[in-house]
Amino acid sequence: MQPLLDILQKTTAFFQQKGVPQARLDAELIIAHALGCRRLDLYLQFDRLLTESELAAMRPLVARRGKREPLQHLLGEAHFHGLVLKADARALIPRPETEELVELLVERLGASPPATVCDLGTGTGAIALALAAAFPQAQIAAVDASAAALTLAAENAATAGLTERVRFVESDWLAALDGERFSLIVSNPPYLTEEEWEQVEPEVRDWEPKSALTAGPDGLDDYRKIFAAAPAHLEPGGWLALETGISQHAALAEIAQEAGFATTESLNDLSGRERFFLAQQAGCTCGQ
Ligand code: GLN
Repeated sequence: MQPLLDILQKTTAFFQQKGVPQARLDAELIIAHALGCRRLDLYLQFDRLLTESELAAMRPLVARRGKREPLQHLLGEAHFHGLVLKADARALIPRPETEELVELLVERLGASPPATVCDLGTGTGAIALALAAAFPQAQIAAVDASAAALTLAAENAATAGLTERVRFVESDWLAALDGERFSLIVSNPPYLTEEEWEQVEPEVRDWEPKSALTAGPDGLDDYRKIFAAAPAHLEPGGWLALETGISQHAALAEIAQEAGFATTESLNDLSGRERFFLAQQAGCTCGQ
């Protein structure tokens, strides 16, 4: 039997040696998860002697984190805009920037909420489900080219109690949605270049689906496809809202113009970097 504080310190040191960012925090979260308590409860029981079976529950999780598997995969969940989503290797772990995109849309469109929404590349279902919760009248299509991701998204919809208004469509972007128009098309598509992908943390590079991250030599391939197809799938006055890489907006403005969008807008994330790109279909001023 070993005191909890010893185990916490040893785990932290092991994570530091493996280059895990926020080693102490992750050690606390993993130990708390294995013990079935909250992280802060650990501070009230540093002298607690851990049993062999408690240690046995921690070891595989600690070993996996040492291999830089993402914390969310180990805990099995990620928090996103008030939802708790299952997170695993089937899809990208939802990011804080993407929460900002949802927040931006809720603020922008709250006064005249979209009746129909299409989330392209839904992954865990994060954007689709957060918007379904925020816009209780909206019908949502959650689209992904990966059947495995759609299964995960559907599990998350069931847990969130949002299956009635969210449908799941296996499609290469808008290809399977012929003839359908939406008030809002939203997407966090892949946007990294190959070079950028090689430089990301091992948690992302080694454990998250590359198909959700990279998009050709300039990272713009999927935006080109989305912009080319979007006009035929937006209602008059409808919005296309995208998460983007941090130096892509000049190129996106050109791509949007070529696709026939006269109204576009570039917005920064909380760290002040170009991150969201909006384009509005001509026709009326709904949603402004
Ligand atoms: N921002 C993400 C990352 O750096 C990339 C997400 C994406 O390509 N859509 O991991």
